[in-house]
Amino acid sequence: MENKFFLYARKSTDVEDKQVLSIEAQVTELRSFARNEGLEIVDTFIEKKSAKTPGRPIFSEMMKRLEAGDAQGILAWHPDRLARNSVDGGQVIYHLDSGRLAMLKFPTFWFENTSQGKFMLSIAFGQSKYYVDSLAENTKRGLRQKVRRGEYPALAPIGYINDVRTKTVVQDKRKAPIICEAFELYAKNESRLADIADFLATHSITTKHGNRLHRDRISFILSNPFYVGLFRYGGELYEGKHEPVIAKPLFDRVQEILKDRGKPKRKPKNEPKAFCGLLTCGSCSMGITAEVQKGHTYYRCTKKRGNCHEPYVREESLDEQLSVLLSDMALPAVWAKRLNQMLAEDKKNISQTAKVGVDAAQKELEVVNEKLSRLLDGYLEQDIERETYLEKKAMLLSEKQSLQTKISNYSSAHLNWLEPFEKWINEAQNLAQIATADNLFEKKVVAKEIFGSNLHLRACAVVAPALECGSAEPLSAWAALRAAHASVGSKTERLIMVPSPGIEPRFSP
Ligand SMILES: [Zn+2]
Repeated sequence: MENKFFLYARKSTDVEDKQVLSIEAQVTELRSFARNEGLEIVDTFIEKKSAKTPGRPIFSEMMKRLEAGDAQGILAWHPDRLARNSVDGGQVIYHLDSGRLAMLKFPTFWFENTSQGKFMLSIAFGQSKYYVDSLAENTKRGLRQKVRRGEYPALAPIGYINDVRTKTVVQDKRKAPIICEAFELYAKNESRLADIADFLATHSITTKHGNRLHRDRISFILSNPFYVGLFRYGGELYEGKHEPVIAKPLFDRVQEILKDRGKPKRKPKNEPKAFCGLLTCGSCSMGITAEVQKGHTYYRCTKKRGNCHEPYVREESLDEQLSVLLSDMALPAVWAKRLNQMLAEDKKNISQTAKVGVDAAQKELEVVNEKLSRLLDGYLEQDIERETYLEKKAMLLSEKQSLQTKISNYSSAHLNWLEPFEKWINEAQNLAQIATADNLFEKKVVAKEIFGSNLHLRACAVVAPALECGSAEPLSAWAALRAAHASVGSKTERLIMVPSPGIEPRFSP
């Protein structure tokens, strides 16, 4: 086999890349690595652009040259130098699948061109996705902190207003008494939800467009614990800082009535069946719904009554098929173990670099503070003009702010993406258990996570569509796992059991 490699190095422009070696250092390390491993480097590609969004000119050029057969492998410092977005990551894996790219080498990451190797690689590419996701997670975390302090993080319900000035929720002097009356009215157990809506409408509590509130909205108002001083957030109940409008006994009474009156309607003739909403018809792509016949649950195409000829399928048969699909997707214990090793290593590195980063930023911050106080002294001693003083001060304050943001980013964001990933590893390992258990709803939930809304029912068989190679779809961990399983096919057992040289870096930088 030929041993021609392209050397690829990318500059660190992303915040989280601070710890990565400079380009010069990357190239030097890679060249000596190539010498030791006996790799021939035919060309060197250096990218100055971030890898977070597709469209790096140098990367594209390299991939073209690869297609032309100028080299068979790529040498880079770490997978995250090569791809940090799903499109580029998919392209790399696609080239591996098609055989145009025979080998990837990283001094810091073990890679072998097998299904397990490709899986680990997609996970390494995908980790960046977790990082991007964790930024959204950070926003949520800010809200959670608000919640813990008893501040409601959303729009206040009717009867309250958000006081923008104090950033608190206060009673709406006009509407709060009306809401209270509505509770009292309903507590008499003589009114329907619609009557309450009428009552509120006569007091000009309506929708934005002046219409009567819908029954569901009324039921939501009457059961909202916010009015007794609590609030729900993310499925959890918290003690609010706002003043209650309704006394607890009145609220409890209303809850009882709501429960009683809701009962007959709560028991519909056909309660939702477990697999509804999971599958679509393989012939006409309409949804699949359920129907009970002679004590058995059958699933059928919603168009069945019309002109679709797909047959009915028993729930037991679907359950069996889904169980097989799910257990086939389980993360093999050996792979999970390697991933956990990778994670542990990353965790260590990340917290180390975060500490270095925080320390450095803190030192800079001290310098800025020092400058600020010297500036003030100068101004007070009348050595500096007022205009200059204000200008310099604004500059230093802005610098101070950036540093503070940097510090809080370091201390929060860095470890954050590891959590969901750890959770995912667990979930993927537990698939076999879920598949063998009897909880059909749980099976549906995981199946949806793994396959999205792409499962079809055709001729009584559940069909999962093939994954597209190199598609622009997010390179989720599930997709990577599916691709790995798909490429192993019947060889699963043998390949998984082959002991590998280990995922740990060959040497640490
Ligand atoms: Zn159909």
